[in-house]
Amino acid sequence: MSQTLQAIRGMNDILPADAERWEAFEELVRDWLTAYGYRPIRMPLVEPTPLFARAIGAVTDIVEKEMYSFTDSLNGEQLTLRPEGTASCVRAVLQHNLLYDGPKRLWYMGPMFRHERPQKGRYRQFHQFGIEALGLPGPDIDAEQIIMCARLWDDLGLNADGSIKLEINSLGQPEERAQHRSALITYLESHADQLDEEARRRLHTNPLRILDTKNPAMQALVEGAPKLMDYLGELSLKHFAGVQQLLKDAVIPYRINPRLVRGLDYYNLTVFEWVTEHLGAQGTVCAGGRYDGLVEQLGGKPAPACGFAMGIERLMALLEAQGDVPDEFAPDVYVVHQGHGNDGAQRLAFRAAELLRNNGFSVLTHMGGGSFKSQFKRADASGAQLAVIIGDDEAIANAVTLKPLRAAAEQQRVALDELADRVGDWLYGADEDNSEE
Ligand code: ATP
Ligand code: MG
Repeated sequence: MSQTLQAIRGMNDILPADAERWEAFEELVRDWLTAYGYRPIRMPLVEPTPLFARAIGAVTDIVEKEMYSFTDSLNGEQLTLRPEGTASCVRAVLQHNLLYDGPKRLWYMGPMFRHERPQKGRYRQFHQFGIEALGLPGPDIDAEQIIMCARLWDDLGLNADGSIKLEINSLGQPEERAQHRSALITYLESHADQLDEEARRRLHTNPLRILDTKNPAMQALVEGAPKLMDYLGELSLKHFAGVQQLLKDAVIPYRINPRLVRGLDYYNLTVFEWVTEHLGAQGTVCAGGRYDGLVEQLGGKPAPACGFAMGIERLMALLEAQGDVPDEFAPDVYVVHQGHGNDGAQRLAFRAAELLRNNGFSVLTHMGGGSFKSQFKRADASGAQLAVIIGDDEAIANAVTLKPLRAAAEQQRVALDELADRVGDWLYGADEDNSEE
C-alpha cells in the first residue's frame, strides 16, 4: 500500500465536531456584527502580489517572508494567497466604488495564509474575521469597534475573569512618526553595540519594529528609547483622548502600551490589541486600528478607515479551554427498513424520510441493508430520539412503526400522513401550543 497523503504542515482539517463548534461561533458572530450595522463582503483568496507589497509594506514580516507567492504558469502573473483581509477589502471597495454614497461598514471571514513556523495558535492556513469601517474619521468609530469586541467577549462568555486585556496606543500621523523615527535611529545608532542582528538589519528599514523585540537582552535599550507619544501633535493627542473617553464611558479597562506598533505599515493614530495570558506565546486574539492612508495608497480618493481582525483558531482554543463542548450531533429520527421479495420497504422509507424533512426534522435513513438487529444498533448509536421502522407489513399498510429509543414507551403504528405530527408530539410534547399567536 502506498503511503497516505497528509495535509500541508500548518494547514489543518477541521473535523465535524469542531466544524460544528465553528459554525455555532460563526452564527453568533454574524448576529453580533449585524447588531452594529456591518455588512458582509467576500473577496478572492488569491490577489496580485503587488497589492500586499503596496498595502502592508515591503519591509514588514508578512511581505518579507510570510507570503505564499507564486507565478501563474499560464500567464506569468505574480500572485499571492492573501495573508490578511484589509488590503483585499480596500481593493474591492475601490474597484467597485463602494464609497460613492458615503461611509461603509464591512466584515469578512475566511482563511488567510502565512508561511510561519507552525506552533500552537500559529498556523500557515488560519482563519480570521475582520471588520473595516471606511469613510469615518473617528475617534467615535475607533471606540465603537473596541466596544464591539468587549461585547463579543461577553456574548461568548469569554471574559468574565477579565483575562482578555485591552492594550491601546496611538501611532500619530506619518509626519510625527517620521520625526520620531529619526530620533529613534539616532538613539539606536548611538547604542549600536547593544543591537541584535535583527535589530541591526531593521535599523534603517523599520526601526519602529525594533521596539517590538522579544529579545530580553534588548529590553533596557528599548525602555530608554524616544517615545512616539512625545512626538504627537495636538490633533493626534485629541483623537487619542477621544477614544479613551468613550472607552471610559463604556467602562472598558485598558492599558496604554507605547510599544504597541503593529507589524503592518498602514496604521496611523489608534492601534489596539486584545491579549490573553491563556494561550501562551500566541496571546493576541484581536488586533486593529486606524489606517487613514491606505485607501489613497491603493489609488483611491483619500478616505479615513479603521478596522480589526480576530484569529478564529485562537478564539476557538479559548472557548475550548473554558470547557465549551458542543452537543454531539444527533438526528431527530433514524429510519430502519427491511423488506423481503420487493423493495417496498425501502421506497416507503425514502418517502417517510423526505416527508419528515419537509416538516423540519433531521433524519438519517439507514443505508446499505442489514438485519433489523444491526440497523437498530446503528439507530441507537446515532443518538436519535426516535426510530421509524418499516417492514413488509408497514409497506403494505402504507404506515410506519414509531419507536422511542430513549424512553421506556411503547412503539406504535402510525399512518404515513400522521407521521410528522406524531414525531412532533414525541419531540416537543403533545400538549405544547406551537402556534405563533
Ligand atoms: P502575531 O503577533 O501573533 O504574529 P500579527 O500581528 O501577525 O499577530 P495580525 O496580522 O494583526 O496578526 O492578525 C490579526 C490576528 O490574526 C492576530 O491577532 C491573531 O489572532 C491572528 N493570527 C495572525 N497570524 C496567525 C497565524 N499564523 N495563525 C493563527 N492566527 C493568526
Ligand atoms: Mg505575525
